[in-house]
Amino acid sequence: MSDFNWCHGPKCHTYHTVDRVRGVKGSKVLRTRKVKPYSQPYTNFYDYFCSNGCYNDFAHKHIRDIVAIAPRTECLETPIHNPIKEVHNTDWGSTWTNTKIEVDETRQS
Ligand SMILES: [Zn+2]
Repeated sequence: MSDFNWCHGPKCHTYHTVDRVRGVKGSKVLRTRKVKPYSQPYTNFYDYFCSNGCYNDFAHKHIRDIVAIAPRTECLETPIHNPIKEVHNTDWGSTWTNTKIEVDETRQS
């Protein structure tokens, strides 16, 4: 097994960066980047993609196949306690609020 993967981004070889330039003078190309995997087994997307951009390109191109792996036909829900709105005062006279949302562990399925 080789110690690298080729980036799976479908457009990786089209991006204009100097690290992708390969070949001899007069016959230069932009080449797909190599990716050095770092997780074992290879479960991280950075084991297959050189960047978030290439990962997004792949996901956009193959989105129907990707969601077909685990279709979501119903919504999911996380039980929570009633949200509590908290008002805070600053030292300079203004206020800010946040809403505390906590998971209700007693209703976890
Ligand atoms: Zn790439």
